[in-house]
Amino acid sequence: MTGISFEGGMGDILISTLLGGVMAVLPDVDHPGSMTGRLIRPLSLYLEERWGHRDSPAHTAVFVFISSLTVAALWLLPGHLAGLSTMAPGIAALLGGTSHLVMDSVTRSGIKPWRYLPIPEKWRQKIYRGTLESGKSALERVLACAGLLGAFFISIFKLT
Ligand SMILES: [Zn+2]
Repeated sequence: MTGISFEGGMGDILISTLLGGVMAVLPDVDHPGSMTGRLIRPLSLYLEERWGHRDSPAHTAVFVFISSLTVAALWLLPGHLAGLSTMAPGIAALLGGTSHLVMDSVTRSGIKPWRYLPIPEKWRQKIYRGTLESGKSALERVLACAGLLGAFFISIFKLT
């Protein structure tokens, strides 16, 4: 049966919210000073040296999409076997990762999220930037909290 219900258990909600939160900070793995960069330091140092912060594959739509698909697959396979099939963790991961890219795109440094997509070069190289100074704006914190709440509410939906 296909449909949307609110029957996801508290475990699904907490795990989906956690995964959405993890995906919301994962793209910064290319910055050794970031939370994820400190946790996975060798990878972080490699990414920064090879591409630089925000120029690595971690700050692209392709990375967010593939990571979210991976989360969804890892959750669905054992969940399906246990009768707990739900798309919520994958959707929360996708929203978390997307929120990171959106928030970075309104900062002064900006990002090029479309790299690696099979689209014309001028679109792949398009930089999205705004006026916020990363880490110094109250609006950034408000948006981060809104993203976490969004992941939580998305997690309440059980898509079967
Ligand atoms: Zn970032």
